[in-house]
Amino acid sequence: MPTRDDILVELRLAPLWRQRNAPGLAPTPTQDPAAAPIPQRAATPIPSSMHSPENASYANVAAKPDAGVDAVVHPDVVVDVAANPDARVARIAALTWQSFAADVASCTACKLCRTRNKSVPGVGDVNAEWLFVGEAPGAEEDATGEPFVGQAGRLLDNMLAALGIARHNNVYIANVQKCRPPGNRTPVPTEIEACRPYLDRQIALLRPKLIVALGRSAANTLLGNEATIASLRGRVHRYRDVPLIVTYHPAYLLRTLLDKAKAWEDLLLARRTMASSGANRAAPGVVARE
Ligand code: URA
Repeated sequence: MPTRDDILVELRLAPLWRQRNAPGLAPTPTQDPAAAPIPQRAATPIPSSMHSPENASYANVAAKPDAGVDAVVHPDVVVDVAANPDARVARIAALTWQSFAADVASCTACKLCRTRNKSVPGVGDVNAEWLFVGEAPGAEEDATGEPFVGQAGRLLDNMLAALGIARHNNVYIANVQKCRPPGNRTPVPTEIEACRPYLDRQIALLRPKLIVALGRSAANTLLGNEATIASLRGRVHRYRDVPLIVTYHPAYLLRTLLDKAKAWEDLLLARRTMASSGANRAAPGVVARE
C-alpha cells in the first residue's frame, strides 16, 4: 500500500502544503513544480477546459474527450422534471440520513439519471464539522458511488491531511451534482437546480461549522452568484448562517500547481475560521501543519 508521501512523489506534488520558512522544515526546492510532467495515471488527455479555474468542469481529471462514448443511456428511465416540484422539494427537505442515498439513487429529476452508473450522494462523518463541496462526479466516482476518489480526490485527501482532518473523520464530502454529466461536462443550470434540494438537505442534516466550496460551481451554487473564484477567495462568506470559504478545485490545482500556495492560504483561513467558531476536532493521529 503506497504511503501518502509515495503518492505525492508519484503525482509530482511533493512537498505539499508546507509553509515556507516554517521552523524545523526542510527548505522547499526552488524547482518550478509546474515544470514537472503530470504523470500518466489517467490514460486520456485532460481537456483544455481544465486549464481555467473560471470555466472548468472539475470532474474532468479522468475525462474522456468524446462525451458520448462511455455514456450508457438507460432509455427506460423517464425524466420527471416537471412533476410537482414543490412536493419533491418538500419531500427531500424531510429526508433522513438513512433514506438520503436511496432517494438520490432513484432520482429522475434531470436527464443525468439516464447516463449515470451510480449516483454519488456524498461520503463522510455525519457529525462532521467540516463540509467540502465539489462540482460533480467524474468517471471513477460514477463507477464507485463515492465522491473524489480519482486523482483530484487524492489531492483533496492531502489537503484534508494538511488541515489535520481526514475523510470519514470530522469531514463530509459532497458534490453540487449527484450524478455524472456525460463526458464530465459542466452541469447545466437546470441540472444544478434539480439537484440543489439534495445539497440543501445534506447541509441541514449535517449542520457543519464550516463549508469549503471547491471551485466555482460549488461557490456559485451555494452563494447564489456568478462571481469568479479570484473575487471570492480570501473572505468568509455565509451559506445561510454557516461560514463558507471559497478555494480552487483540486482538479484545477493539479493543472496549475503554482496556485497551490493560494489554496494553502485559503485552507489556513478556513482553519482560523473554524478555530474562531470554537470547534476543531483533529482526526486522531493526524497533525495539522502551520
Ligand atoms: N470532481 C468533483 O467535483 N467531484 C468529484 O466527486 C470528483 C471530481
